[in-house]
Amino acid sequence: MRRGLEPWIVGKKIREIDVVHKGGNRSSTYAPFGAIQGAEVLGVARRGKFLWFQLDRDLALMAHLGMSGQFLIQDKHRAYEKHLRVRIDCGDRKREIRFIDQRTFGWIAIDKLVPEGSDTIPQSFARIAPDVFDKKFDRQGVINRISRKNSAIKRVLLDQSVVSGVGNIYADEALWRAKIHPERIAKELSVPEISELLKATISVMEEALEQGGTSFDELYINVNGESGYFEVELEAYGQEDEPCTRCGRQIRRITLGNRSSHFCPQCQRKSPAKETGEKSAPRKKVSSKRG
Ligand SMILES: [Zn+2]
Repeated sequence: MRRGLEPWIVGKKIREIDVVHKGGNRSSTYAPFGAIQGAEVLGVARRGKFLWFQLDRDLALMAHLGMSGQFLIQDKHRAYEKHLRVRIDCGDRKREIRFIDQRTFGWIAIDKLVPEGSDTIPQSFARIAPDVFDKKFDRQGVINRISRKNSAIKRVLLDQSVVSGVGNIYADEALWRAKIHPERIAKELSVPEISELLKATISVMEEALEQGGTSFDELYINVNGESGYFEVELEAYGQEDEPCTRCGRQIRRITLGNRSSHFCPQCQRKSPAKETGEKSAPRKKVSSKRG
C-alpha cells in the first residue's frame, strides 16, 4: 500500500480532509485536520500497520489500517463506497484518496512528532518496534530481546514492541518453516533457532509483499495486504487436518492467547527431549496413516 500510494501523493498538497463517517477518525487526534491544510506530502512511511504521510511541517498525518483498512486512489466523481470513512483531496483535478474500512478498527488522525535518535517520528510509531523491512531494524537487538522473553514464542513474534508487522498468518508460517513449536518458551530457544525463525519470518513477509505489490494498479491500491496473504503458499495457517507437506503428519490447530495457531506436531516439537519416547510416525519414512 505504501509503495502504491507514495508515487501518486508525493509533491501534492493536502487541500481538504473530509470525514465521511466518524468510524474512520480517531477521537484523540492531536490537532484538527485543518492544521495540515496546505501541507505538502514529502513521503509515505510505514511501521507495522501504521502509515505516516510525511509533511513539510511538524505534524504527521497518520493512518492505522486496523483489520481491514484500505486506501484507494479514486475518481472524485465516483459514488461513495459502502464503507468509505475519509476522503483526502490533494488538489488533483480528477482523483482523490479514499480511506475505506469495513470493520472500523482503522483510523486517520494528526499526530505529533517525537524524537527517536537523531530523527523525529510520529508518537504512534514510537510505541512499536521497526518491522523487518525497516532500515532501523536491528537484527541482533531483536534476537537478544526475544531470547529474554519468558513467554510462548508465537506470542513474542506477535508482540509489536519486539518486532512489528508480523500478523497471525505470517507467524504460523514462519514457525512452520523454522520448525519451532508455537508454545515453546522464547528464552529456551537457542540463538541459531531464533536466528532461523527471523530468517523465515523475513522470507514469508518478503514473499507476501512481492505478491501484494502485483495487485497495485493506478486506480486501485490494496492496502490491507490481505491479497498478499492469499497469494503466499500457506503450509500451516488454515491447514488444520491437512497433511504437512514436509512430513505428512496432519497439521494441528491450537488456541494460544485467543489466537489460533497452526503447526505440524512432527516437524515442530514442543519438547525435543520427548521425541524418542513418543509413538509417532517413523521419522525416515513419510507417514500417511492418519491422512
Ligand atoms: Zn511436518
